[in-house]
Amino acid sequence: MAGRLGRWAAPLLAGALWALGLALVFLLRLKTAEAGLSVLLVTGFGAAPIRNFAAGFAFTLLIPFYMLAGMILWGFTLALASAFRPRFSHDWSAREGFLLTLSALLGVHLLLWWQVPTTLWLLPGLRALPFFLLFPLLLALTLVFPVLWIRRQALGWLRGALLAGAWFAAWSILPLAPAHLPRLLTQAKGGSDPAKVLIVGLDGLRGDVGQEATATWKGTAYPRAYTVIPATRLLWHILWGGDPLMYTIGHAPPTLDELVGKTPLPIIDQAHAKGWKPRFYIDDGGTIGLAGKVANFDDVLMPAAGWENFVNSNMSASFPLFAAWENWGRAFPTTNPWAPLDAGLKEALRLGRGSKLVMFHSCLAHVPIFLDREELKEIPRWWTLAPGTLEPYYARQQVTPARVATYDTRRDPFLSYTIRMKSILRAWEPIWNGLDQDPQYRGATRVLFSDHGERFHHVTDKVRLSGVHGYNLDPWEARIMLKVDGPGFEAKPGAPPVQATISVLSIRDGVAAALASDGGLDRQALERAYPRAPMRYQTMSMDLFTADPPGLFREMTVSSLVGRTAIGKGGIWFVADDSPADTRAEEVTVAWGEGEKMTVIKPLKGGGALRYEYDGLALKAATRIPESDYATAKAEIKAALAGSGAFAAPPRSQAAVPPPS
Ligand SMILES: [Zn+2]
Repeated sequence: MAGRLGRWAAPLLAGALWALGLALVFLLRLKTAEAGLSVLLVTGFGAAPIRNFAAGFAFTLLIPFYMLAGMILWGFTLALASAFRPRFSHDWSAREGFLLTLSALLGVHLLLWWQVPTTLWLLPGLRALPFFLLFPLLLALTLVFPVLWIRRQALGWLRGALLAGAWFAAWSILPLAPAHLPRLLTQAKGGSDPAKVLIVGLDGLRGDVGQEATATWKGTAYPRAYTVIPATRLLWHILWGGDPLMYTIGHAPPTLDELVGKTPLPIIDQAHAKGWKPRFYIDDGGTIGLAGKVANFDDVLMPAAGWENFVNSNMSASFPLFAAWENWGRAFPTTNPWAPLDAGLKEALRLGRGSKLVMFHSCLAHVPIFLDREELKEIPRWWTLAPGTLEPYYARQQVTPARVATYDTRRDPFLSYTIRMKSILRAWEPIWNGLDQDPQYRGATRVLFSDHGERFHHVTDKVRLSGVHGYNLDPWEARIMLKVDGPGFEAKPGAPPVQATISVLSIRDGVAAALASDGGLDRQALERAYPRAPMRYQTMSMDLFTADPPGLFREMTVSSLVGRTAIGKGGIWFVADDSPADTRAEEVTVAWGEGEKMTVIKPLKGGGALRYEYDGLALKAATRIPESDYATAKAEIKAALAGSGAFAAPPRSQAAVPPPS
């Protein structure tokens, strides 16, 4: 009897070992990564809070999850096998339970890897095999034990094949179910007001890529739109009315003052006071730093708080079955490689019902981009590539002459980025184009925008690095997507774009004015508010991407930022500034955009600055200017940002920034 019961440990053990195996592969991958996020993670794993979190996560969530999965898969396997061989439910052995459960787990993961083949680059060794060999190999490994077992039962060809087919069909329920189950776990806050303003942000969507991909969308296109700072969290805080003078000298991690609510967000406060029920949803909470923060939102949802955001956005690609269920089981859909591209937007629209100000930000195109099989079809003969070759280079130091000589342009990261952005926008198109039929949203101003663009630094003419942002002020990072629909902005798909220069500050001022009038955004104000779009940012050193001599500019280094970043309880992070804001504001880069032209003034360490002039994406001139000219430009941008900070004032009509010459 004890033996009979004891054999049930076999599928549980198979699940636990599978989870440990994936964890080992993940750690091996961290150790063997050359550059990019993995290297940061390796450094991070040295810190006690991160190690403790990882251990807790593995033992309380990951391993139990895979043990449960093993048990469910064994349940399917046992029930079906017993239908073909009735004695089996009595006399199965622990060995059979163990090996058939492992086969089922491999089959389930094979299905998920087949959905998103690029995630196979996370498997050291196997990543070097081309897809056309790798998939048959994994399939053979999945089949070997089930086929041997079926042969031993002497079921005959037909019944044997039927059982194998039934097993695969039953096993596939487990990975496929989460995409089809209704999301019931998160209760909507409700309310009865139709929306006045809906803002949808798609992280890192370049204006050029975005406008082309939304040509069939309704609404007015603004191809000459600029961010005010190429950093997600700071930009959103400025949109919420946060002081631009403070938020244009910050970086990715929030400051302690922000976390405890010492830095007001007046637009959110006003929206709250006026009963607009401001709601904000994001599919990657690590990006925005709202966890643990005091603010007057009616609802803020992200998949998880603190550390777990890094799991669901970055690590869960290594744990496919867990990732597939994470999209269903978290408070909000995530951005892992198995996340349906329309899940977050649909959920934000559902949860936003009853609010007058609904905001959603999606990080579905965050690096690294794992293309799924549908997306890979846009890469010619993708199956002849090895998954490892589709992983982009993250730093120019990786691009050796030997690698340049054999570089296959099918792996160009800008190609992957464009494919991903197009497929996100294709998934969103029917939703967006249907909003004018939806009583909740048809009367609202509906904004699709991006917080910043994305830059793919060239190492050689044909080798480009993985996309980055938040490093520099330049047209790749600063020019953004903007399309607006709703009352006053209606336009048929394909209507000619409007060439006014737009700053995201115009959107913020528009929301502030909308709050005052209890209406939507005013089109004239939006198009006239900022004939010159001001920008300011403490740029980061780019020695990973460019051959500029290190230490040329007055700017932040990555290591200094990491060194000042502290980790609070549960993985809530913040930066401890080592100098007062006024001091940090002294070394900012300033810029402005006007039509197709963008001017950037970047301070040099030895005094003076470099002034870059762009026309579109083309650099037309780079000239050295004296410190006094830099100081003048800096003061003018500061004044523009401060002046426009009076968000409650009537819309501005005059130029915000005088020429800084
Ligand atoms: Zn962003």
